[in-house]
Amino acid sequence: MTKPPIKKIIYSLISLILFSYLVYLFNVASLLPPVKTNPNPGEKEIVGVFHLHTRYSDGRGQIGDLVKAARYHQLDFIILTDHGRPNYACLQSQGWREGILVLAGSELSTSRGHLVALAIPDSISPIPRIAEEAARFIQKEGGFTIIAHPYSKTSWTWGMENEIYTGLELIDADTMLKKRWPSLWPYLPFLLFNQRAFALKMLTPFPSPFRQWDFLNQTNPPIYGFFSCDAHLMYKTLLNLFCLRLPLEKKLPSEFHASRNLVFEALRKGNFYNSIDAVQPAIGFKFWAEKGKQIYPMGSIIEIFPNETIRLKIRRPESVAAEIYLLYNGKKILASFDQEINYQPIQPGVYRVEVYLRERSILPKNIPWIVSNPLFIRMAKNDSHTLQPTTSF
Ligand SMILES: [Zn+2]
Ligand SMILES: [Zn+2]
Repeated sequence: MTKPPIKKIIYSLISLILFSYLVYLFNVASLLPPVKTNPNPGEKEIVGVFHLHTRYSDGRGQIGDLVKAARYHQLDFIILTDHGRPNYACLQSQGWREGILVLAGSELSTSRGHLVALAIPDSISPIPRIAEEAARFIQKEGGFTIIAHPYSKTSWTWGMENEIYTGLELIDADTMLKKRWPSLWPYLPFLLFNQRAFALKMLTPFPSPFRQWDFLNQTNPPIYGFFSCDAHLMYKTLLNLFCLRLPLEKKLPSEFHASRNLVFEALRKGNFYNSIDAVQPAIGFKFWAEKGKQIYPMGSIIEIFPNETIRLKIRRPESVAAEIYLLYNGKKILASFDQEINYQPIQPGVYRVEVYLRERSILPKNIPWIVSNPLFIRMAKNDSHTLQPTTSF
């Protein structure tokens, strides 16, 4: 018997490895559900993406490229945040473009790190560099601020005076891409034929901003949580990764300033939820409170007296199997596969919701698909009694 030539063995081995690798990539891609574009256009909910860079600062594309990507993903709005204190060209680029509401703020370099300013006038004077001064200046000008990628370096650098900021970023694509880049090379072929799979493979649990958010809301509430895109390139891949969904009572008006106000006011009041739409569009999630006939949307601060009862209502999208977590002061107090939950809280505090996909999904099991903004329950007149005790969920 003659020995097979060594070259032939090596070629066979390489072919086998390549074949197994392709089968693995195919398997990963097959876990993705089909993209459901605009699943329910009649719903009173709008979707958009926050924290985007263009050539007005260090982004690689023009506004036209972002608008094209936003149209592809059927977004309602995008929020540009080019660097500057402020970036005037970016602010002046706002308007309706090809059916997309293009809004803009600026990402400021401050003494404590990057801070995003939204709802500021186009003609605002130069903004101070000291973070606290900048936040107060922006408030005075009618705007609000969001702490950007608070853990992109190492630790919390924003001190204790957090009531001057409206929100913080919980998750952002830029930090995630930088953290995950060394282990992403096996998925590079996805960039050629399935960019959605590549974007989702980039996701990794990153609990520090969530912990800090829960901590701040127990000490200096309210602070709202934002999923941020922080995209400088790869717009088509990134623009449906981290979305903000606003349950507005009406459709966006055609008049630009009215639409701008509606979106910025919803964000300023925390009346929105965050979702990872690339894995599955999250349309239809709801979280609200009812006290008598009064309805309180996400982000509300609700004052109650000792004998009053309040109910928290949660509804998750029906299209997929998913598990709802209700969190109280950052701790999970309820987990359920039900589609609707009606919960009577017994303690004042901060209540928020996370939803996890439990069907076969490319999303790691410990990354929430949906993150609500909180409802804050307080006793009126500094009364520290608990609410009406109950055991019913
Ligand atoms: Zn930044
Ligand atoms: Zn940025």
